[in-house]
Amino acid sequence: MRGNTLYIVVPCYNEEEVLPETARRLGDKLKSLMNAGKISPRSRVLFVNDGSKDGTWAVISRLHGENSLLCGLDLSRNRGHQNALLAGLMTAKDKADMVISMDADLQDDVDAADAMVDKYLAGADIVYGVRSSRKTDTFFKRTTAEAFYRMMDLLGAETVFNHADYRLMSRRALEGLAQFKEVNLFLRGIVPMIGYATDTVEYERGERFAGESKYPLKKMLAFALEGITSLSVKPLRMITGLGFLVFFASIVMIVYNVVRWATGNTVAGWASLACSVWFIGGLILLSLGVIGEYLGKLYLESKGRPRFLIREVLDGERDDD
Ligand code: UDP
Ligand code: MG
Repeated sequence: MRGNTLYIVVPCYNEEEVLPETARRLGDKLKSLMNAGKISPRSRVLFVNDGSKDGTWAVISRLHGENSLLCGLDLSRNRGHQNALLAGLMTAKDKADMVISMDADLQDDVDAADAMVDKYLAGADIVYGVRSSRKTDTFFKRTTAEAFYRMMDLLGAETVFNHADYRLMSRRALEGLAQFKEVNLFLRGIVPMIGYATDTVEYERGERFAGESKYPLKKMLAFALEGITSLSVKPLRMITGLGFLVFFASIVMIVYNVVRWATGNTVAGWASLACSVWFIGGLILLSLGVIGEYLGKLYLESKGRPRFLIREVLDGERDDD
């Protein structure tokens, strides 16, 4: 029989405006699940402060003082959403039987957690929160995000469509995740590789409760590039394919030119020559760029730097549960 201690892990970067409300809703959610007997009284919410520049950690400390269900983890500096989430998951793994990860901004429907817990109790190891529509997203966010998933798929990075980082993972799944040692971390692509029994829960994604998005277009593009190059070598293979194509094209061109020459029709083809020089040059640069991207990854992986360092933990090890 599996245990039923739940941890909800929430990465927070400059979220002081929204945290009190998030804490209230998540605290209430834990209490109602406890009252229903679905989760143990040792369950907690774990806020991970990802090196915020505002008073996020002060807010977390205050909340922890007021309500022992709310815990905190302070990272040594800003390491980005994925690493902050990982830090939370790896900390919660040793105390919890199941962990739900969600964003601090209340865009993910807190009430979907009930269904996730039910599916865990029914035997699932990973439950993906999948948004049923993007009605509340702006047109720009919706189209860019959907293009993101399509492009990822095309380039060989398998992800769950319309699933972000709202998911439940069992302790067993987290122990599996802990064995993925890569420094270039893209959780959305790695979690499906773990396997075990999986399930999905649909929910409506709302608007950010307060504060502003920490994922501007620039970060989103970097995130997509990170995802593709960490998960798939398809771009490298596409370069090889492209190389073959250009090679065959040049053979055809040579044959054509020889025939033209033999039939005595040589024309000074400056334009086509210049064009092809630029074309080939561009292709080579692009291909080198892609190779460089992977090489850079390799370089970073070979260093094996820590993915996060913890400054302070406020945990729920108190006598009142
Ligand atoms: N976040 C983080 N570190 C960062 C950037 C973001 O921990 O460097 C957190 C942020 O506090 C939020 C989550 O990641 O809880 C998702 O960010 P956001 O809601 O701004 O992204 P969006 O929903 O706009 O894609
Ligand atoms: Mg958000």
